[in-house]
Amino acid sequence: MTVRVSIDLTRCRGHGMCALLAPETIDLDGWGFARVGTAEVDEPGDARRLRRAAAACPRQAIVVREVPGESTGTTPSVRAPWSAWRAR
Ligand code: SF4
Repeated sequence: MTVRVSIDLTRCRGHGMCALLAPETIDLDGWGFARVGTAEVDEPGDARRLRRAAAACPRQAIVVREVPGESTGTTPSVRAPWSAWRAR
């Protein structure tokens, strides 16, 4: 499964949680804002950490999507699900 990650820099506030959770894919620039080193990831562990980072981002700035044609039946995109967690 290949996933594609993007970061909406208009939302990012430099909390840095993402770089802690997915350091192989996301790092921080000199101002502490997230930047993506590799836009597409196909290693399952890296993809799982990216999804965790997206879920932990307090600004919902990280979007992780499966690359079309390689679906595994999992959720096609992840954005921080804070509202879903609160609803439980
Ligand atoms: S956790 Fe979200 S807001 Fe914080 S640096 Fe990463 S993308 Fe930006």
